[in-house]
Amino acid sequence: MYSGSCLCGAVQFEIKGQINHIVHCHCSQCRKAQGSSFATNGIVNSPDFNILSGKEQLTGYESTPGQTKYFCKICGSPIISKTAAKPDQVRIRLGTIISDIKERPVAHIFTTSKANWEEITGDIPQYESYEPGR
Ligand SMILES: [Zn+2]
Ligand SMILES: [Zn+2]
Repeated sequence: MYSGSCLCGAVQFEIKGQINHIVHCHCSQCRKAQGSSFATNGIVNSPDFNILSGKEQLTGYESTPGQTKYFCKICGSPIISKTAAKPDQVRIRLGTIISDIKERPVAHIFTTSKANWEEITGDIPQYESYEPGR
């Protein structure tokens, strides 16, 4: 069980199951959505993701047709994204999780879109687009 919240605390959520496919995404959309050099996202089964409070503060932006990024409309924290074609899963922004996380990032993805000022370090694999198996 994991718990998390946005920066202002209005949006509180919990995750019951495990977090799969944790990746650092360096694509230009993720960089803009996070205001940072990359986004760290993981996949959670939709029934495992529960909003405990602040559901009315979550607002969405359809960044790509069929893909909506949800964020707190008070503080702007990015929380999740949903893809219409994959209703069974939610992509969670790992930085909003308060609990220690057991799972570990498995890859850097979209490394060809990385910021020119960023140097990717560490031993996990790097891929030019999505990691294999997705
Ligand atoms: Zn907030
Ligand atoms: Zn991305």
